[in-house]
Amino acid sequence: MVAEGPIEKQADVVIIGGGIAGCASAYYLAKRGAKVVLVEKGRIAWEQSSRNWGFARQQGRHPLEIPLMLECNKLWVNLERELNADLEWVQGGNLRLAPDEREQARLEEIVKAERDLGLDIKLLSKNEVQELVPTMRGPWVGGMYTPSDGHAEPIKVTTAFARAAQEHGAKVYPYCAAERVLMAGGRAIGVMTPRGEVKAPVVLCAAGAWSSKVSHTVGLDLPQRSVRGTVAATTAQTPTAKVGVWGGKVAFRQKKDGTFYIAGAGAADYDITLESFRHLRMFLPNYRKNWRLLRLHIGMELLRDVGRAMPWSPARKHPFAHAVDLEPKPNLKKVQSSRQALRELFPHFTDLGIQRSWAGYIDATPDAVPVLGPVPRLQGFIFATGFSGHGFGMGPIVGKLMAELVLDGKTSLDISGLRYTRFAEGKLAEAREVI
Ligand SMILES: Cc1cc2nc3c(=O)[nH]c(=O)nc-3n(C[C@H](O)[C@H](O)[C@H](O)COP(=O)(O)OP(=O)(O)OC[C@H]3O[C@@H](n4cnc5c(N)ncnc54)[C@H](O)[C@@H]3O)c2cc1C
Repeated sequence: MVAEGPIEKQADVVIIGGGIAGCASAYYLAKRGAKVVLVEKGRIAWEQSSRNWGFARQQGRHPLEIPLMLECNKLWVNLERELNADLEWVQGGNLRLAPDEREQARLEEIVKAERDLGLDIKLLSKNEVQELVPTMRGPWVGGMYTPSDGHAEPIKVTTAFARAAQEHGAKVYPYCAAERVLMAGGRAIGVMTPRGEVKAPVVLCAAGAWSSKVSHTVGLDLPQRSVRGTVAATTAQTPTAKVGVWGGKVAFRQKKDGTFYIAGAGAADYDITLESFRHLRMFLPNYRKNWRLLRLHIGMELLRDVGRAMPWSPARKHPFAHAVDLEPKPNLKKVQSSRQALRELFPHFTDLGIQRSWAGYIDATPDAVPVLGPVPRLQGFIFATGFSGHGFGMGPIVGKLMAELVLDGKTSLDISGLRYTRFAEGKLAEAREVI
């Protein structure tokens, strides 16, 4: 997937970041004839876009995201054909379990609101849940279900977008960090990389958990924090469920090979770094409200960050090129508790083992919805970032909308509520999820 020869010096669009947002944007732009260069500091899809659960769900989303997800679902159902690749797409629906009547009542409200927005969502009784997953046992009283939702294998989807973009002429450069965004006359004009400059009238920042640092190189202040999420793959079990499930104690989906991806509910792991202090004020209301749901870790990550900031550190000079192939530590207690929770739901899984576990840093904004679109005071600079733990499912439509924004100057769906300037205006979306 490495572009051969010297780096392309000129493009219509330069994309920073080879996750799903960057690769899908590269694909839809290149497909429409744009000359695209994508630079990635490490391997394509090494960060969030290969480490997530793989849910492509419309349900339980912020109202600002639902119209985007309704369109995105139409892309998902044809994506394997569109990209000519096996993505392990399964349209098995998405189910959120209610552990008690209080939660069932809350889900009922969500169902009403999301149905009004056009989603095929239902409230299920205990018996209806049982019919959907006959072998599942547990104390749940019902749930919320969207039959048209699905799941797919994240790394396959992201690399398929990158490959298809290249087939349409996009140049993709792994291990080629954008060290800074270039500016002239008050506008973004390209990026500087270790392989030289790439000039382009449009710079798309899709740098995931690094977008705040990238945009800082041109004086933009993007409030963002990173939360460590843990996932595990179990040993293969008999075919049990096509539906992706968020239980009270465990979220899971069963892959076509019989293994389950599982993740635990409960407090999120939050590693304090120097970046944590930068936007503290913006995140404080969220911390105060959800302090029970955040587990703060002051340790190695902070020390490493301080080390990188020292004047003699090469990482200070090349912060992005020095942050490749990162392998955050999974929370092994969570792995065991989610395995246990899956066993409780399926007591007949007597030989349920863990094959592997991993973690990834989720990039979250203060209101847990993304930042999409241009930055008025920096012409030529566009954000597609801040997906706050649910950007995999949204990746295809984000790519399509970014192509429209660049090539048509407007998008077919309203993304104004996700604008960058909402932070400075103090008009944050009402946060729905805790990340
Ligand atoms: C454990 C976990 C579970 C999740 N589960 C789900 C789920 O089930 N469903 C869902 O929809 N979402 C889920 N998510 C969220 C989802 O994975 C992300 O929202 C999505 O992948 C974000 O894609 P991205 O392209 O914005 O970022 P990333 O995939 O993080 O990609 C950003 C890329 O930019 C590169 N980069 C950064 N700085 C530079 C630079 N200066 N120069 C060049 N390249 C740079 C990085 O190396 C990285 O590869 C989960 C996330 C995690 C971690």
